[in-house]
Amino acid sequence: MTSSVLSIAGLDPSGGAGVAADLKMATAMGSYSMAALTTVTVQHPGDVSRVAPLPAAMVSEQVKTLLQTMPIGAIKIGMIGSTEIADVLISTLQDCAMPIVLDPVQSSTSGSTLGHIDRPVFDRLIAMATIVTPNSGELQYLLNDAPPGRWAIDNSVAILHTGGHAPGNTIHDVLWLPNGTHRRWSHPRVETRNTHGTGCTLSTALAVGLAQGLDISEAVEQAVQFTVKLIERSATDNMVADNGPLLHFKLNE
Ligand code: PLP
Repeated sequence: MTSSVLSIAGLDPSGGAGVAADLKMATAMGSYSMAALTTVTVQHPGDVSRVAPLPAAMVSEQVKTLLQTMPIGAIKIGMIGSTEIADVLISTLQDCAMPIVLDPVQSSTSGSTLGHIDRPVFDRLIAMATIVTPNSGELQYLLNDAPPGRWAIDNSVAILHTGGHAPGNTIHDVLWLPNGTHRRWSHPRVETRNTHGTGCTLSTALAVGLAQGLDISEAVEQAVQFTVKLIERSATDNMVADNGPLLHFKLNE
């Protein structure tokens, strides 16, 4: 049966991040994809100039309708936009059995904040996730200096620390599982400025793998491989001067 994923995330009208990236990545991986919008932004790859979260009831109605009518193999949550939206997602998703991938995105690579969420509410949403996918800055915020392996066990949530924002020529993506084990994938950094939407793309690839029935570790391995392949294939196609988008259609070339 065709796998299907639901992305709950924001709109980047330039198509590189947010729900646009999520829909493109899931499609490139052969999965049916749906999107419930949390926030409209005004942005181009170099700058996010406005962030307008939708009314929380509008978000919960989108998600509830899809849960009632569509087959959903896994959910990816990206940019949430407001505490009110996080709050309604907690009540709307509380009885869901499907895996949830939560990308705890807080700001764009260009440095703009993507909406504040009160910490206690954010923590309750995180507790409902199967796996969270923080970059280095987000990891620090999430863990409050707790060791990642301990945090994964204590919270029963897997962590994939994506290493692209850390310095160095080799990128390490590290997975900690609630069963106390961990795995690391290391790959050479691709020299490119075209990495806009990489976090969105990776977390969606992970949700697709889980919807396809892979276990967490297999789904992470597939997601890392596909994301690296996309970065390599988008590396020299400079659509814009800086922070250019990944070209998801190149995944299967
Ligand atoms: N815009 C939206 C709607 C997003 O969801 C994100 C990341 O999650 C961004 C912008 C930032 O993307 P990047 O940091 O890859 O430029």
